[in-house]
Amino acid sequence: MSVKILDGKLLARDLKNALKNEVEVLKKEIGFVPRLVNVMVGDNHGACAYAKSQKKAAEYIGIQYELETLPEDVSRQDFSECIKRLNADESVNGIMIHKPIPKHIEYGDIAQYVDTDKDLEGINVTNIGKMLVGETKIIPCTPASVMEHIKSTGIDLYGKEAVIVGHSVIVGKPLSLLLLEQFATVTVCHIATSEAGRLQEHVRRADIIVVAVGKPSVIKGDWIKEGAVVIDVGINQVNDKIVGDVEFDAACKKAAFITPVPGGVGPVTVIMLMRNGIEAFKAQMKKKGK
Ligand code: NDP
Repeated sequence: MSVKILDGKLLARDLKNALKNEVEVLKKEIGFVPRLVNVMVGDNHGACAYAKSQKKAAEYIGIQYELETLPEDVSRQDFSECIKRLNADESVNGIMIHKPIPKHIEYGDIAQYVDTDKDLEGINVTNIGKMLVGETKIIPCTPASVMEHIKSTGIDLYGKEAVIVGHSVIVGKPLSLLLLEQFATVTVCHIATSEAGRLQEHVRRADIIVVAVGKPSVIKGDWIKEGAVVIDVGINQVNDKIVGDVEFDAACKKAAFITPVPGGVGPVTVIMLMRNGIEAFKAQMKKKGK
């Protein structure tokens, strides 16, 4: 079977164009466009590169995007005041807190200050709860990107075996809900699965395998089921190369579809952030009767 590489840049381009059209319509109907603010602490090269790609995507789609930079030694008090000010500003429709943040501040703690209606990343506990009962369109960005990649294969998830490796709050756990909603049979593996020596047996039966661990080659290519869809979320630097969590070349011999790293899940994740911004804007306008 020949593998099809799921090109994240191509998918991102199509999704970006659809959002651009949607924003043009919103602008005509409402008179203005969403305004999103990314709060970044300090000056981190990797974080800046991600912020640049967000800015580029926002400009293309036609939404306002601003970076608010706080000093590296910002206090918890000043950080939360900044979030509260953005919450209170009616012209701001979406807020995100750029990771990483300094160790003296707990990300989960500060993230909960973001107004539920303006939560660009969909990680606020209220939004996670709403997602569980299908009451929000604000979906955590990386799981949303994974779902778009799976959708692009045309494969119906109904009754399929989906195996997720990694149970983090930002990827594995919310993704399990999204896959369940599509009637996949979902298994979530984690460190204890590996320690019990059972990771391979779960991966071997997966029609859809999503890996979000952050360890190169944690999934061996010959574990992949013939004809499976392989979505590799992992980002790892090995020597001078960026690689995923799956042994790519070996997995290509078995899979029907596979995402590359880089150029797979990442480019679409940025677009999902923009989509959340548009959904937040629409929900806010609806509340205001516009
Ligand atoms: P976390 O470190 O929060 O989670 C990693 C998960 O993998 C944990 O659930 C951990 O389990 C599990 N794990 C660790 N070792 C093993 C193992 N040997 N076998 C099975 N499970 C294991 O990471 P994130 O979820 O934040 O990110 C995961 C990867 O995805 C990273 O490489 C990150 O850079 C990348 N990423 C990519 C994004 C994109 O848009 N492309 C966005 C977000 C993340 P336990 O907690 O029990 O130890």
